[in-house]
Amino acid sequence: MTDNAIEITNLSKTYADGKTALNSVDLAIPAGSIFGLLGPNGAGKSTMINILAGLVNKTSGQVRIWGFDQDVNPRQSRAAIGVMPQELNIDPFFTPRAALDVQAGLYGVPKSARRTDEILELIGLSDKAEAYARTLSGGMRRRLLLGKALVHHPQVLVLDEPTAGVDIELRQMLWTNVRKLNEQGMTIILTTHYLEEAEAMCDEIAIINHGEVVVRDRTSALLGRLDAKTLVLRLENPVPALVLPGNVTQEQRRDGQIALTYRRSQVSAGQLLAAVAQSGGVVTDVTSEEPDLEDVFLSLTSGKAA
Ligand code: ADP
Ligand code: MG
Repeated sequence: MTDNAIEITNLSKTYADGKTALNSVDLAIPAGSIFGLLGPNGAGKSTMINILAGLVNKTSGQVRIWGFDQDVNPRQSRAAIGVMPQELNIDPFFTPRAALDVQAGLYGVPKSARRTDEILELIGLSDKAEAYARTLSGGMRRRLLLGKALVHHPQVLVLDEPTAGVDIELRQMLWTNVRKLNEQGMTIILTTHYLEEAEAMCDEIAIINHGEVVVRDRTSALLGRLDAKTLVLRLENPVPALVLPGNVTQEQRRDGQIALTYRRSQVSAGQLLAAVAQSGGVVTDVTSEEPDLEDVFLSLTSGKAA
């Protein structure tokens, strides 16, 4: 057991066409955590993941996986990590069972140590074990990719945008599995461009943008830095003049809803709702809006609160 599952030092990647995808990245990911790598499309997330997986060659820098330097101990560092890639690259002629077996073979897992049935069960494909991959739905293929990442019992599991474009059922199934694996001791790294998802799943988050780590913090601390929040209210009937505390901004939305943006450091949602009631507003529905990733970048990179 090492303290850090992953240690990335001064990592840079410039692709052959001259595009720099990573620029001197330093990042340590604690063993045992669920770690979120958050950033917009093109930020460099997949490049980092693919370097960890050994699928993309770095231009410079150092990568240690489970204590093993990728250049010094390539075999051990590769054995310590399993990656569920962003792209659906599944061989259409293999059944799920065969695909898992082939993958285990590639990683040199002896037949006696293979847990194919257990993995099929985990990813919910036991009843599709003998079906041809080309007959599997998109969601099933994604689950199979998760299974393939697990065949060699890696200490570190990396999921690259596992829920982009998947339905709610699959998303929940993935999260249940990820939590289960983490409870069993596996370190999990996931990339996403949804702040909400990172917030729900991750102990710690690094935000990456234009190939650089903009911020890295515990999830709770990061969200605490974001002061602005919005409540969207539906009122039974229009109230001409709402008297509200603090620097609350009001905005009229469609369908007669009104959006109140406030600072959590100045006023609570409860105080706000009480003030609306005192002004004669009868609230029939409330939703809240969290700052999105765009706000996070703006606030963190400009040094101001969102
Ligand atoms: P993310 O996963 O965060 O969306 P990527 O790592 O895929 O970001 O891409 C980072 C940048 O590198 C983007 O500008 C992308 O266009 C570029 N890029 C990614 N893969 C390649 C490649 N094989 N060749 C050239 N440029 C690439
Ligand atoms: Mg990507």
